Amino acid sequence: MKFENSLAFARKLDKEDPLKSYRNLFFIPKEKGKELIYLCGNSLGLQPKTVEKELKAELEDWKNLGVEGHLHGKRPWLYYHHFFSKSISKLVGAKEDEVVVMNQLSVNLNLMLISFYRPQGKRNKILVEANEFPSDYYAIEQQIKLHGLNPAECIIEVMPPAGEVNLRTEDILAKIEEYKNELALVMFSAVNYYTGQFFEAKKIAAACNEHGIVIGLDLAHAIGNVEIKLHEWGVDFATWCSYKYLNSGPGGVSGVFVHRKHATSFSLPRLAGWWGNDEKTRFKMLKHFVPQPGAAGWQISNAPILSMAAHKASLEIFDKVGMKALRKKSELLTGYLEFLLPVNSQFKVITPLNSSHRGCQLSIQTLAGGKRLFEKLTKAGVIADWREPDVIRVAPVPLYNRFEEVYRFAELLKGTV
Ligand SMILES: *Cc1c(COP(=O)(O)O)cnc(C)c1O
Repeated sequence: MKFENSLAFARKLDKEDPLKSYRNLFFIPKEKGKELIYLCGNSLGLQPKTVEKELKAELEDWKNLGVEGHLHGKRPWLYYHHFFSKSISKLVGAKEDEVVVMNQLSVNLNLMLISFYRPQGKRNKILVEANEFPSDYYAIEQQIKLHGLNPAECIIEVMPPAGEVNLRTEDILAKIEEYKNELALVMFSAVNYYTGQFFEAKKIAAACNEHGIVIGLDLAHAIGNVEIKLHEWGVDFATWCSYKYLNSGPGGVSGVFVHRKHATSFSLPRLAGWWGNDEKTRFKMLKHFVPQPGAAGWQISNAPILSMAAHKASLEIFDKVGMKALRKKSELLTGYLEFLLPVNSQFKVITPLNSSHRGCQLSIQTLAGGKRLFEKLTKAGVIADWREPDVIRVAPVPLYNRFEEVYRFAELLKGTV
């Protein structure tokens, strides 16, 4: 499409947008009665209007039924995680028994590493991206120490070429080749939180599969943002959070994917609790853990129903719209933002310009006085995100952001200089 830099054109795109009605399903934050330009869905997604109703339904069941809600609630709490299998499997490209909703992201990452980081002899290394999210890095570091190994020796990082910020797929593949006999695990975020780069997970997974290396993905910035096919790609495990693009509320419940090839790998070490036990015998209160097959066998505790209810409200929207349509709008919306951004010595987009190598986020490096510009934008009614030392992250979310907002943001950005 040939873009034009005008408010009229942005409004025309909004008018023609087949997903335009979805914005009405969300509460848009306001200041003094005026809607803010919210470009922070990569950090915390907005609240679907249906969340309150779903939460209230659970509160009512608790109020009226007490403990009976476990079996006789409108949605029996005992089986709550089952209600997500279909929606989540579609979002990550999995079979229904390969996913389960539980816990928080960093907790799940640790649980997965316990099962899937199995250092043996000199095959004890983990390949990570150089600029991995700190929480993931901490988890990896500690897991290595748990095995009595030295993180400085066991963590191998892939760096971007000198003077660049994004990783090259060929460099990742070359590192895998170089260390193919020493890597126990390759652990990547599918979309990097800082640059917004969407790695070529399919190619990375194929290289890992070829050399018998376990591959794990963190989908924190990928789920609900880009199209993912975990099963088909042969990814061993993955985890994500639901409060970013999945709009399920602050601290919202996480989930994991475990590939079917591990569904009955009961000999893998894992942490255990009654919720991962065979459902038929869970309440017989027997000794000795009998894990369920599939991802559900990694559950530990009974589910946080209030978080799960918010998650449910949000996933119903994704069920309706589908990732294909979302992604289509997303490419157009972010493409339009990229087109509108001023090209000068002040700003530089560090996110890949090829739309198949990014999700909706653009990371704009500000070359001078960036923090001051960012504060001006905030005063002008933009909610974006500042990352030290000099990056403004903006995420036009196709579910609720409009082309007009992207246009206004670009105008404001130009005005700050
Ligand atoms: C957001 C994010 C986290 C946050 O972890 P929590 O356990 O949900 O607090 C971790 N890793 C990555 C890559 C993230 O983007």
